Amino acid sequence: MKERPPFPARLDFSGGKPKGNRAPGHAHPAPGPTARPPVRVQSHGGGQDSNAVRMNMVRMLAGQGVGDAQVLFAMGSIERHRFVDSALVNQAYEDTSLPIGLGQTISKPGVVARMAELLRNGASGRLGRVLEIGTGCGYQAAVLSLLADEVYSIERLRGLHDKARDNLRHLRLPNLHLLFGDGMVGYARGAPYAAIIAAAGGEAVPQAWVDQLAVGGRLVAPVSAGSASARQQALLVIDKTAQGVRQTVLEAVHFVPLKSGVA
Ligand code: SAH
Repeated sequence: MKERPPFPARLDFSGGKPKGNRAPGHAHPAPGPTARPPVRVQSHGGGQDSNAVRMNMVRMLAGQGVGDAQVLFAMGSIERHRFVDSALVNQAYEDTSLPIGLGQTISKPGVVARMAELLRNGASGRLGRVLEIGTGCGYQAAVLSLLADEVYSIERLRGLHDKARDNLRHLRLPNLHLLFGDGMVGYARGAPYAAIIAAAGGEAVPQAWVDQLAVGGRLVAPVSAGSASARQQALLVIDKTAQGVRQTVLEAVHFVPLKSGVA
């Protein structure tokens, strides 16, 4: 166990390549009787087609190394095409990020699944309370709501907060709580969290997030490092234990910037 690092945590790529491996545990049992049934949504036509395309996406994710059956189940249940503009529906099940307005993007399915798998860390049951920073269009929040008891998701842009509310209405997810505000300060009222996930990357993980993480909890966030001319972002995992905080730097990623304040 490393000593508790100073916070706010900052990445240092000077030592060469980011270290860390893919999450262990590729042999989780399929969701048991406690798993929820697939989310049912009203079909606007083409529903069957989207099921087939979505299952292809799930196979692609499994092929990329996502082995957590509950994550694959959640990715197969939430209809990503309902979260993007109609002009982009054809690309909804490709492994690509897509614009959602106001200069923001919906994360690639591969990244959503990867981060969810990291958050679950091989757990057999559901996660407890989860905090998501950066609701965006609400897609990842919906995926998380199938994996956790409660999800609190914060968005700083009013337009996207409202859009997410519209996008999520049909799913009726009573354990998903959408909040409008600056996620840099977390959401103390829901703390402590079993898991915290950020969909936007800053130069450091705000101390408030670490404070609001439960002992035994895990935080996954993109963090950037490097000079202004050579900005790099990588996934950072923070595990909070009774002895302190352990950080692991994983692969390079590309997320929109974490910004403070609301707009
Ligand atoms: N998970 C989202 C991804 C959205 S992109 C989805 O599935 O669509 C990341 C989002 O983080 C953007 O909408 C951006 O506005 C938001 N964001 C950036 N900084 C933030 C902050 N401090 N608090 C809350 N949201 C923030």
